[in-house]
Amino acid sequence: MAQNRPVAFQSLRLPREIDAEIQGAIDRVQQSAHFVLGREVEAFEREFAAYLGVRRAVGVASGTDAITLALLASGSLPQGAEVIVPALTSPFTAIAVVRAGCRPVFADVNPSTWTLDPAAFAAALSAKTAAVIPVHLYGNAADWTALADAARAHDLVWIEDACQAHGASLAGRRVGGLGTAAAFSFYPTKNLGALGDGGAIATNDESLADRCVYLRNGAQEQRYVHASPMFHSRLDELQAAVLRVKLAHLDSWNQRRRDICERYRREIVFCEFPRVPPGSTPAAHLAAVCHGRRDALRAGLSGAGIETLIHYPMPLHRMPAFAADSSARPACPNADRICGRLLSLPLSVFLSPEDQETVVEAVNRLGADA
Ligand SMILES: *Cc1c(COP(=O)(O)O)cnc(C)c1O
Repeated sequence: MAQNRPVAFQSLRLPREIDAEIQGAIDRVQQSAHFVLGREVEAFEREFAAYLGVRRAVGVASGTDAITLALLASGSLPQGAEVIVPALTSPFTAIAVVRAGCRPVFADVNPSTWTLDPAAFAAALSAKTAAVIPVHLYGNAADWTALADAARAHDLVWIEDACQAHGASLAGRRVGGLGTAAAFSFYPTKNLGALGDGGAIATNDESLADRCVYLRNGAQEQRYVHASPMFHSRLDELQAAVLRVKLAHLDSWNQRRRDICERYRREIVFCEFPRVPPGSTPAAHLAAVCHGRRDALRAGLSGAGIETLIHYPMPLHRMPAFAADSSARPACPNADRICGRLLSLPLSVFLSPEDQETVVEAVNRLGADA
């Protein structure tokens, strides 16, 4: 069998002219000799908020911290308050809930969208439910309208986990401005990635944003006087300066990602793709598909030099980390089924048409008899 060139799962390399722009931003921070909470962070927060169409963005150290701080800042959630989280997401969605002193309650995902299922969400509601975290998984907007219908009459805090969905939109509005607050991650592999860790909270609520600003600096009331033993979580000036450069390219990079995902959808035969809510534009973060004999397909692709990953191999209702926190293990059969079949195909902004072709050809050849 003809051996193709290997295809990496992703490459974070950028064209030379963008590297030069980034180098300029790094030099600017270096020469300013100001490295934490300064003008670059302020400027990035303004620019990112304007991009999302929200009033405020607050830079923090990671997406996980953004979820934790958004929960802590969103009002008085009692210790042990229940927060509904989809069973299929990054484990960090639920880790952030535990760190905020709350209890994650896992609800199943929808079998066709693979995001939080409105009926399962309604069934998971209890008198102790204080918040819900819909996740825009793989860059696909969660089914917001149906979730809001299911939650009507409950006075819930809505934190969007938009860590995979920078620039996605629903009914003409960018995700990140749909709920009480939203969390973004700038981990290097995300659609808007820093040269290290970073995150942000987005919100239209000015007082919630002010509380996040206060909390991210360790709940410091005045210099070296703290109201509570809060950790700090800040976005570096260096990362903010780099993110400002990359934000200007985000829409065109997302379009390239969407084009690749749409090609996979059109040309790949033996895989199932998630349904995208009507009227939404995905951020195409990951090209996740389902295949009935996933492990054999993955092994075959690996043998052909094509690298894949699984997002995620274990649903959260089975995760040892949360066994103590979620008293009854809920049944989430859709998440179980999907996790056993998931495969993320190679996807990066600058994945060449030849590499895309290699992936399509190999999946169609190996998927048929895998
Ligand atoms: C990446 C990610 C997180 C965590 O973000 P970090 O910046 O790595 O802390 C949380 N939720 C989802 C869905 C993610 O993809």
